[in-house]
Amino acid sequence: MAHDDPDHPHSLLPPEPELRVRALETLLTRKGLIDPGALDVIIETYSEKVGPRNGARVVARAWSDPSFRATLLEDATAACAALGYHGRQGEHLVAVENTARQHNLVVCTLCSCYPWPLLGLPPSWYKSDAYRARAVRDPRGVLAEFGVTLAEGQSVRVWDSTAEIRYLVIPMRPEGTEGWSEDALADLVGRDAMVGAGLARGPA
Ligand code: FE
Repeated sequence: MAHDDPDHPHSLLPPEPELRVRALETLLTRKGLIDPGALDVIIETYSEKVGPRNGARVVARAWSDPSFRATLLEDATAACAALGYHGRQGEHLVAVENTARQHNLVVCTLCSCYPWPLLGLPPSWYKSDAYRARAVRDPRGVLAEFGVTLAEGQSVRVWDSTAEIRYLVIPMRPEGTEGWSEDALADLVGRDAMVGAGLARGPA
């Protein structure tokens, strides 16, 4: 979905969005165009059931399985779907890999596009005007505020989710985790690391 698509879930909302959303929901329900129960299920699914754990499993698999990693970098939508992660806001996924030379940071400068099937709903800082403006202008400053210090010679690339694409950052695998199970590796991967606003935790 593009930003100019009227069905886009967060296309430029007017002031007092909550009131307007309620008014719209009431009207659509009265006209029989939507079923409020179905809406509740969608909201509950993404706020309660889908969370960053899905993305962490994808990252752990990529760290453990070179052929999955290659597929993920080539076609993240298909690779994630193969693990059962697909659906709204995950139709066009792109995975970007942190390396010793390049760190990746994801933003949606226009609104708050986010890979729901992998990370759940976006945190409020991701939707904030400050993050959206500064991530592009001063990514190193933003990273420093998140406590991320980049290695010498490591560049930052900022990915703006301005089309239908949703990005997943594959953080660098921490040292000292050789031979770890995928479950144990997934425990090291938090939400911020998969947006690029954090790093994977170390084994200690
Ligand atoms: Fe957006």
